[in-house]
Amino acid sequence: MAEKAPGTSSDFIRDIIRKDIESDKWGGRVATRFPPEPNGYLHIGHAKSICLNFGIARDFGGVCHLRMDDTNPTKEEQEYIDAIHEDVRWLGFDWGEHEYYASDYFEQLHEWAVQLVKAGKAYVCDLNPDEVRAHRGTLTQPGKESPYRNRSIEENLDLFARMRAGEFENGSRTLRAKIDMASPNLNLRDPVMYRILKATHPHTGDQWCIYPMYDFAHGQSDSIEHITHSICTLEFEDHRPLYDWYCEQLGIWHPQQIEFARLNLNYTVMSKRRLLQLVQEGLVSGWDDPRMPTIRGMRRRGYPPEAIRAFCDAIGVAKADNTVDIAYLEHFVREALNKAAPRYLAVIDPLRVVIENYPEGQVEEFDAVNNPEDPSMGTRKVPFSKVIHIEREDFMEDPPPKYYRLAPGREVRLRYAYFIKCTDVIKDADGNVVELRCTYDPATRGGDASDGRKVKATLHWVSEAHAFDAEVRLYSHLFSKPDPDDVEEGRDWLSNLNPDSLKVLQGCKLEPALKQAAPGDRIQFERLGYFRVDTRDSKMDAPVFNRTVTLRDAWARIKNRAAS
Ligand code: ATP
Ligand code: MG
Repeated sequence: MAEKAPGTSSDFIRDIIRKDIESDKWGGRVATRFPPEPNGYLHIGHAKSICLNFGIARDFGGVCHLRMDDTNPTKEEQEYIDAIHEDVRWLGFDWGEHEYYASDYFEQLHEWAVQLVKAGKAYVCDLNPDEVRAHRGTLTQPGKESPYRNRSIEENLDLFARMRAGEFENGSRTLRAKIDMASPNLNLRDPVMYRILKATHPHTGDQWCIYPMYDFAHGQSDSIEHITHSICTLEFEDHRPLYDWYCEQLGIWHPQQIEFARLNLNYTVMSKRRLLQLVQEGLVSGWDDPRMPTIRGMRRRGYPPEAIRAFCDAIGVAKADNTVDIAYLEHFVREALNKAAPRYLAVIDPLRVVIENYPEGQVEEFDAVNNPEDPSMGTRKVPFSKVIHIEREDFMEDPPPKYYRLAPGREVRLRYAYFIKCTDVIKDADGNVVELRCTYDPATRGGDASDGRKVKATLHWVSEAHAFDAEVRLYSHLFSKPDPDDVEEGRDWLSNLNPDSLKVLQGCKLEPALKQAAPGDRIQFERLGYFRVDTRDSKMDAPVFNRTVTLRDAWARIKNRAAS
């Protein structure tokens, strides 16, 4: 289930667009946008929106704009803008010349606000934020009109100009649309259009001390850019009447807002506020911590961009909220890495094995296949000698039934090399197994017995004299419960953080060919999973490996069980 060919995706939004093209509603144009607020790093939920908006532009020969929705200077930073550029490009999308900033439209937005004041459709209100809230009413009770609602147009123009000139304190006045305090839709109960906020903006500096609210900036920005389909998540469904109201009152280009269900994943959180909290409280190592659901976290962990795109394609676009199993995302990661990642031998929890009948000082080199899925990736030489390491969990002194790996008196295959048989177990004073003694059968060279006898297990290994030591980091879910909000009374979502989400292993033994691995390389350690050489902490000749994902495909198993 690889990435779909461009133009072959189908969903209710693309159906709408197809109809619009047929009816020539927009003169055949398709213009979408991805509008992040630069107040945090992008996450996998944003990836869904990016794939959808840029994917539609690609499929219909349209354009997709990248627009910074930068109307809240207190939370926005250049650092985030730079990261958004990098992450969207890394995902494989390009906005070309179409990069915009809502803040570039501040002058136009202000003009439109004045236009609404002049039309008697907006007024300056002196209620403070708490009073505005109290007047708003509830879902079952209508709101109360502001005592300032019926100011004259002249007075409103004067006060709004003085708001802009910086005469009033933060929060002391707002500009509000005059719509309907009794509307069943709370968004239409005289929504705030402008607030006073004396803060330096990353783009406009100190030019403004009043800033438009999201609802008065977003649709207007869409309009200025002549967007045709303004695709957003479901929580904006109730804002659509307001989106439409502003466009109609102003008599401007009026895009169609279409809502779809946001992506939720289990075992993680997706709100930027929460992700920021994890970073600020040091609960993860940063926005690019490989456990984070951020695009850069996933990138650092080793997820290829094509896997994320294939996943976003496969989950599709729907109208109803749901939660996707994180195992489904991992399935696409494995799928992408299976063919692309060369395989190596590495032992992450080493147990020393001395092969007593193997000649001292002898070294043999075996040909190892780099990727059986792709013969063009060739072979390499793997050195073998008298002392090797195997994975500690591949030996049991007292094996239960169905454990077929190494045990006293038992024979197994060493991948590419020989059959070995365990003859003795060496322990330390506390009874821990510290070394095994084995014999090998020279007649099994290359991994098959000349007499046709079989073994039930094939183990990976490295030669002690040739291996080098490296740090390996194993990851599991950031939260121990599928729903991090599933908490006992008095506790919060942070209490569900998984204490075992990161395991750092030192002294792992890697085959010598891995010395050449460069930061960013994606590889497979046979039997252990896919790994990526860490781009932040790897040093010259001391690579650090992040486990991207194990080899077991939990999602495929679920699917097969359902099918049988
Ligand atoms: P958060 O709730 O994580 O803070 P946001 O919606 O405030 O996200 P924005 O920067 O405003 O973040 O989002 C930019 C675009 O990405 C918006 O169009 C938004 O609808 C979309 N988006 C955000 N989160 C998701 C998600 N989980 N699934 C799909 N689209 C999303
Ligand atoms: Mg938002």
